[in-house]
Amino acid sequence: VTADRTSVVHPFGAGTLLQLIREGDGATRADLSALTGLARSTIAQRLEQLRSQGLLRELGESDSTGGRPPMMLAFNEDAGVALAADLGATHSRLAVTNLGGTVLAEDSADMPIAGGPETVLDWVDERFHALLREVGRDDDVVRGIGIGVPGPVEHATGRPRNPPIMPGWDGYPIPERFADRYRVPVLVDNDVNIMALGEHWTNWAAVDHLLFIKVGTGIGCGIVVAGRIHRGAEGAAGDIGHIRVAAGDEAESIVCSCGNVGCLEALAGGGAMAARLRDQGLDATDSRAVVELARAGEPAAVRLVRESGRLIGEVLAASVNLYNPSVIVIGGDVAQAHEQLLAGVREVVYQRSLPLATRHLRVVRSQLADRAGVIGAAVMVIEQVLSPAAIDAAIAAAPPGPRELAGAGN
Ligand SMILES: [Zn+2]
Repeated sequence: VTADRTSVVHPFGAGTLLQLIREGDGATRADLSALTGLARSTIAQRLEQLRSQGLLRELGESDSTGGRPPMMLAFNEDAGVALAADLGATHSRLAVTNLGGTVLAEDSADMPIAGGPETVLDWVDERFHALLREVGRDDDVVRGIGIGVPGPVEHATGRPRNPPIMPGWDGYPIPERFADRYRVPVLVDNDVNIMALGEHWTNWAAVDHLLFIKVGTGIGCGIVVAGRIHRGAEGAAGDIGHIRVAAGDEAESIVCSCGNVGCLEALAGGGAMAARLRDQGLDATDSRAVVELARAGEPAAVRLVRESGRLIGEVLAASVNLYNPSVIVIGGDVAQAHEQLLAGVREVVYQRSLPLATRHLRVVRSQLADRAGVIGAAVMVIEQVLSPAAIDAAIAAAPPGPRELAGAGN
């Protein structure tokens, strides 16, 4: 189901030219010739291959100092669509995007992941189909499907691996579920990684090293290294929720879902905060209730959110020393809810990390907010299906066009 990654990329094939056009927000034939050293005739031939795939549009004539003005070529973002799903523990969001990552239609609903893969993916399939109809597109314009789930995933096969809050999903072949209707790549990753990807691609593309922290019911971290998601040897990188933070009698008494004591998530996650507010006699069933109480100015909730930020800051201070990111983005519903979380994180990170590592460090809130995951899922697809290898493979597999047939007869 996944695209063939073993195919050889031509050093300056059509796929590479498309990448240069996308990265530069357009180019002229002369630009491409100068960048690649290819003859103009070769450039023209490869551009024709891209045009036959519907991947190019002409922006009109660029500014010129005289003579016949050159044509600006740009990537046609409407050459297809991506289907994206951000499946959360209790709430899910779906979208159809164009190949520029722009959301064309979206939908969200309360859909417990614990309902199991059959129920949840039937719903996703049905809603994808409805969203495509909503934007007036057929199934055959879908270039790929991206799905984020709230648990660890074996990225190469798209199968969840021992996901603690996803009963019935362990080893489930998510990509195969969509193979009958769509013959396209289906990519699956955990929700924090896709949020990191969406935020990086949309707002921080020029930054090489970024950490994205999701603070919801649990706490997780997506790591962008040299512009790419770092998944680690077993796909478990960034699982900061189970790093031990401040010990003490109280911490020792709180047992985490993983069985250890003193875990960050068990002390500072939205679920943990709700439990502590209940202990104080407040009505807080889950992380959303914590958010509402904090927003309403309930002093106990505001204090707890600030303290949660400080605990997260402790783990991040160590991460900053270890990894030296340029940007830390804080997302997830608790982070969106109250500035005290960000304030607590900043307080400890700037105090405890080494000065050299924090000299240019920015700690910011997610700008995409609850759309980070679904946009990241689309980006995951777009980056794969528009990679030079995938484009060259698609061109090689396409039937010859009329011009090529005519040329072959000469
Ligand atoms: Zn734990």
